[in-house]
Amino acid sequence: MDTKIKFLKGIGTAKAKLLHGELGIQTFHDLIHHFPFRYEDRSQFQTISLIVPESENVQIKGIIEKVEVVGAARKQRLMATFCDPTGQIELVWFKAVKWMADKLKTGVPYIVYGKPVFFQTKYSISHPEIEVLTPANEAGKNLMIPVYATTEKLKKKYLDSKAIVKIMQELVKTQDFDPIETVDQDILSSLGLVELKTALKHIHFPPDARSKNRALDRLKFDELFFIQLKIFREKSDQKEVHKGIIFQNSHLVHDFYTNHKPFELTDSQKQVIKEIYTDLQSGHQMNRLLQGDVGSGKTITAFVCMLIAIGSGFQTTIMAPTEILAIQHYQGLKEYCEKLGLGIRLITGSTKKNDRKKYLEELASGEMKILVGTHALIENDVQFNRLGLAVIDEQHRFGVAQRAKLWQKNKHLYPHVLVMTATPIPRTLAMTLYGDLEISTIRELPKGRKPIKTSHLYDSSRLKLFGFIKRKIDMGRQVYIVYPLIEESSNFDYKDLMDGYESISRAFPNMPLSILHGKMKAKEKDFEMNRFVKGETKIMVATTVIEVGVNVPNASVMIIENSERFGLSQLHQLRGRVGRGIDQSYCILMTGNKISRDARERIACMVATTDGFEIAEKDMELRGPGDLMGTQQSGLLDLKVADITTDGELLKKARSLAEQIIAKDPKLTRHSHSRIARHLSKDQIASLKWSTIS
Ligand code: ADP
Ligand code: MG
Repeated sequence: MDTKIKFLKGIGTAKAKLLHGELGIQTFHDLIHHFPFRYEDRSQFQTISLIVPESENVQIKGIIEKVEVVGAARKQRLMATFCDPTGQIELVWFKAVKWMADKLKTGVPYIVYGKPVFFQTKYSISHPEIEVLTPANEAGKNLMIPVYATTEKLKKKYLDSKAIVKIMQELVKTQDFDPIETVDQDILSSLGLVELKTALKHIHFPPDARSKNRALDRLKFDELFFIQLKIFREKSDQKEVHKGIIFQNSHLVHDFYTNHKPFELTDSQKQVIKEIYTDLQSGHQMNRLLQGDVGSGKTITAFVCMLIAIGSGFQTTIMAPTEILAIQHYQGLKEYCEKLGLGIRLITGSTKKNDRKKYLEELASGEMKILVGTHALIENDVQFNRLGLAVIDEQHRFGVAQRAKLWQKNKHLYPHVLVMTATPIPRTLAMTLYGDLEISTIRELPKGRKPIKTSHLYDSSRLKLFGFIKRKIDMGRQVYIVYPLIEESSNFDYKDLMDGYESISRAFPNMPLSILHGKMKAKEKDFEMNRFVKGETKIMVATTVIEVGVNVPNASVMIIENSERFGLSQLHQLRGRVGRGIDQSYCILMTGNKISRDARERIACMVATTDGFEIAEKDMELRGPGDLMGTQQSGLLDLKVADITTDGELLKKARSLAEQIIAKDPKLTRHSHSRIARHLSKDQIASLKWSTIS
């Protein structure tokens, strides 16, 4: 398959050069992997009477009754009346009129293929494909004809899709077309997959639709399989390289659990702690992702794990993406730490110089056990005495480089890393993106939480909305009103927020209000946030800065303005700000009267479910997997044939096979794996190195 394509019959040096330059095709292997992007179905003949305005390309057989050239000089065109037993249709040529006129014979049966359009009183096909009907092509010698991508430059040199079909036919005929099968026959049959050679042949020339699908499945499988294989191999290498600190002392956990715990942990939380504890004792460095819906109680789960590290004589840190969140973590954990007698500090961008200096000393001496902060804590002068466990909250807000820096805060041994996210990632996506991370999931919310009631209101019902707000505040509740903010710096968005604030002040003249947005200084933000937390203000008008993690149990109404402008995961995050107390909570999605179909689907999804995983699946379906994770990571998902939105089953099979193989033969040195190893080393699978950082 490494043979150069110039040796293929009908190609030669010039064409080979062109195909290389334009499509990157150099070898037989490259050529066979230039898959068609669609097929023309020639397996059926239609009848003229069944043609409808929506008809795509049709294939009909019949005879030409009449041929005439109409119009004069440059406007000349050739019209042929083509009939089958059910009706007639016009065939039209605007080019090569003379040449076609000579060629077409009346009374001879033809096969015609093309797209019919309805014009004035009848259907016509312009520039159809036409050939004389023979018993061979009537039986359908080419049932599904592949259509290939080419370029203008190639077409100029007559390398159009049809020419590529001919080349492909040559290729699959030659002796040298012999792709290396990488998966054993018995495994293939147990997975219900066809051989590679058959798959490659059938992806170009499928005898029927079913064969095409089976070919596609095999090729998708291979694509996913080699990615998974690579992930598992790197994971296994990493385990070997990165020995982990062993934590075995859980006396602090016992103390906390028996004397100070504020509530019973859910079974899910306990299960996750067990999984993490197993990692912490394993001798390998932990890289674990903790997924849990908003409000599922990730913080205390992480805290218990931190206690294991501290009890074993190490320090821990928890990094949050925003100052508000860091402060909340600090305040929440400080309460527990005081009871347990553990030193805890907060470092953010607005920590005073003198305080910071003092904290860094405490950190270096080992006196401080927990350091909470924003990314201010990854700066170089932040030096731990013995960092054992680093927790990163809301990981998608951090860049890879920032995480990498945190990883290196312990010079001797890498600390264990626990990454937390409230953005559930669809399983299939997680398998590909975070294949090398272990994943733990908190599946249940603490007991007694009532599902949030969500509804959709149009701007025209604003009076109704104000009435609702008033009733809830009279009952003692607090309310969030959130405005979309596309860019922190865009004044346009602030105008929405400010106008909204004005109109609310007018509607509720004596109501104490808070306002929060990214342009405010940290001090002002804290001041406003604190007033709201204490219940001094009843309504919080804010941009999405309140999005992540903020916890005010008495706030039970979330109103999202212009909600059509938010993505699903963001809407879900925002909604998660309420529903944290014992009262019934509400989320009201406000939109303009006219919204796009996608926006309508997003809103319908929010109204229908509060399950973060379901929402994540829908999000992936609407936006595609690449967009879901941001451009930075989408390269990985640049799959050629597979689509992780729809190929979950194949992905599972591929993953499980890859896992088995690496478990048995981590370095792929066994003879039986030599073909796989060779393919893997040659294959251009995107390097997954970056993901090991988490
Ligand atoms: P998230 O997973 O979104 O970070 P938090 O850790 O902020 O959630 O927890 C949300 C709220 O639920 C907090 O007020 C926390 O004290 C509370 N909580 C967590 N676990 C439990 C539990 N097992 N029972 C009752 N309340 C809990
Ligand atoms: Mg949280």
